[in-house]
Amino acid sequence: MLAGTTVSSSDRLSIGAKSPLTGGIKESNAGGIVGTRIARQGLRCIALEDAPGKESEWKIIVVGKDGVEFEDGTFLEGKGVYEKSDLLAEKYGRKAGCITIGPAAENLLLASGIACSDPHGVCSRYAGRGGLGAVMASKRVIAMVILDDGEVQPDMVDPEAFKEGSKRIVKLLKDNPVSSLFTKYGTAAMVDICQSLKVLPTRNFTHGTIEGAEKINAQTMYDTIEKRGGEGKTRHACMHPCAIQCSNVYPDKDGKLLCSPVEYETMALMGSNLCIKNLDVIAEMNRIANDAGVDTLDVGAAIGVAMEAGLAEFGDEKAVIRFMEEVRDITPLGRILASGCKVAAKVLGVRHAPHVLGQAIPAYEPRGTKGMAMTYLSSPMGADHTFGFTLRDEEEPASKEGKVELSKKFQVIGSRMDAMGMCNFVRYSVRNDMTPLLDLIKAFYNVEISADEFDDFVKETLRIEHQFNTDAGITARDYRFTETFYEEVQPETGETMDITDEESALARQW
Ligand code: SF4
Repeated sequence: MLAGTTVSSSDRLSIGAKSPLTGGIKESNAGGIVGTRIARQGLRCIALEDAPGKESEWKIIVVGKDGVEFEDGTFLEGKGVYEKSDLLAEKYGRKAGCITIGPAAENLLLASGIACSDPHGVCSRYAGRGGLGAVMASKRVIAMVILDDGEVQPDMVDPEAFKEGSKRIVKLLKDNPVSSLFTKYGTAAMVDICQSLKVLPTRNFTHGTIEGAEKINAQTMYDTIEKRGGEGKTRHACMHPCAIQCSNVYPDKDGKLLCSPVEYETMALMGSNLCIKNLDVIAEMNRIANDAGVDTLDVGAAIGVAMEAGLAEFGDEKAVIRFMEEVRDITPLGRILASGCKVAAKVLGVRHAPHVLGQAIPAYEPRGTKGMAMTYLSSPMGADHTFGFTLRDEEEPASKEGKVELSKKFQVIGSRMDAMGMCNFVRYSVRNDMTPLLDLIKAFYNVEISADEFDDFVKETLRIEHQFNTDAGITARDYRFTETFYEEVQPETGETMDITDEESALARQW
């Protein structure tokens, strides 16, 4: 709603479709500059309907001020995302907003994502979840380019009030302790928090702590980036403007960019979950995942399953890189891993598959945090931490008491940000009072909407999303963890999954 303006962190790009991974509705969003470019073209939404036959040639959809062109995209076929990104930048300029897919999506693999341009013109910001890359590929669209020739300026009814409101958001973000923590350490700050709460996924989600977590925590990452210097950055904005700047640039030993960004979820799913305690290895896995065009969470979880099946020892650094190379090279094993942990577990005969609705559990072990578990079981998108992030507000994380209400409260708070296209990290500053954002809507559109009315709109959206899933054939029985989470104790907390189907159904009712 505020994309293309001066409001911090408001240009999030939201991509939606029916998910081939979960079979239900999917919205996955990414930072970067594409949202800004779309707004500058005077557009709010681009819809691709239907699909041509699979024999159709690959196309690039180019959107500019003079209209829409369907250009030949065959020269991009089979190339990694980084090479595609360079070729697109060469052809359309580094300032164009590009989205593209990797080889995994071209092969319609279920954990494939969509890569979007960052401010440097590199397609490294991912709408990673739910297999949306495969949906784009099914339409034979290998890239979309939003040219940098858009001249539409935000046409707001009260520019002065908007300017003041925009400054107010920056102040709120700078004063907020959580955003400030992310400004210094990025999301990597969650490693120590989750280790102390015993919910850091470890050894294919069989444990909640790992010995030596400090080797992959935020301070180690910060010190490593600072020491190596060069292209490394401990603080980086995925879009402009952003007052938080939680992103980073992780350099190799020579100070050259290895991967940007490296986020907590990846550090857990490709790090502690595989007993990998080496940031260089995690960053290299992340880089290959970005090049292959896959979700680091679903593929990290699939590798955990493969390790449990005995394909490699937990902690084997060479093996995890080899697994990622197999994903990038689309080998038979790579295809299995790039299909996510549910498929990997079925193929490899592993019972303990960490997913809900087929989407891998994010980096918070659910038996140790029943609030997050309730959120995983309530999201129409499959296990999703951004859908209702309760962890910071759980007095007794391992207890299920009061978690239906807590999860629902944060489902609304998180969905407000999605509804507005804001970065999810803005929610910490407006969670108790949406007025600063509602004032901006008023100054921009001359629409007065109360906080309650806005929440009614958000709840109606949640209702529609659940109805979509029901219509798609998803039943209450599908919103469950794998049986092992109910049967087996997580050693550090002594907890099993004790949330009943009736309780999780209540958390999905709006
Ligand atoms: S807080 Fe982080 S993810 Fe959000 S807009 Fe800023 S840099 Fe991007």
